[in-house]
Amino acid sequence: MSTWRFDSLNQRKVRIAPARALRPNDFGGPTEKKRRCPFCGGSEADTPPEVDRIADSAGAWSARAIPNQYPTVDGADGVQEVIIESPRHVSRLGELTDEELTAAVTCWARRLVHRRREGRFDYLLLFKNEGPAAGASMQHVHSQLIALPTAPAQAAAMWDAIRRGDLPQDESCVVRTAAWELVSPTAPRFAYECWWRPRGGQMPLEALAEGEGAGELARQLRRIVAAVINLGGCDAYNLIVQVPPVSHASDVGDRWWIEVVPRSAGIAGLELATGLWVNPVGPEEAARRLAEELA
Ligand SMILES: [Zn+2]
Repeated sequence: MSTWRFDSLNQRKVRIAPARALRPNDFGGPTEKKRRCPFCGGSEADTPPEVDRIADSAGAWSARAIPNQYPTVDGADGVQEVIIESPRHVSRLGELTDEELTAAVTCWARRLVHRRREGRFDYLLLFKNEGPAAGASMQHVHSQLIALPTAPAQAAAMWDAIRRGDLPQDESCVVRTAAWELVSPTAPRFAYECWWRPRGGQMPLEALAEGEGAGELARQLRRIVAAVINLGGCDAYNLIVQVPPVSHASDVGDRWWIEVVPRSAGIAGLELATGLWVNPVGPEEAARRLAEELA
């Protein structure tokens, strides 16, 4: 049985989730017993029944969503899904075909829109952990969605600030297209961390969920991830899709973005103790080098 523990001294919330210890780990080292990958095409019976799928032109699935078999939260505490992004046993976003990556981003939007419309949970987050240093435990390429009844404190503070119109004015623009822009945030946590977002609400999640703009998003995301990996020399990263809590959606509109967070350094004592971050590459320098890489 999972439970929340709250440390009032540190304002810290921790989920005690014993079932998480049971989940398989593909990166467990040479002694890890080899087993059939449940995310591969043909192993569909090894996962919980799927809740969504995107079919390819031949009618087979390109991306499918399933409930997380080892959820951190469940019942009234939230829901957690896995989005499997290819029937092929590949481990990297960069190894997906254009069709698969387009189906994957469409599936992300579909699941977020579904959970938003359902309205059971206020806070929605979609994320990808690629590489063990970024927290991945399964090799097969996938992302995850988590929905919680209320936004965690840090996220709530961020969305409240956005609702007030209290936005940073000193982000460094990397590139801008007609509908999208890539920025280095004001205070990036890691070298070459960057955020890709639609400009001026031009890409509502609802439209993306219908496949509109998904091809361009897939193409650009592939290039950005490759550039970040190349510049940072680190192939572990997280993608974080930030979407407004349901309670904020009518105030902040279609404001959402994708954070690309390379895990070029570990989280060490200073970060653990204080929440302060140390980044050797400033955002202006990162923006300049990313722009060169993407030119
Ligand atoms: Zn597999």
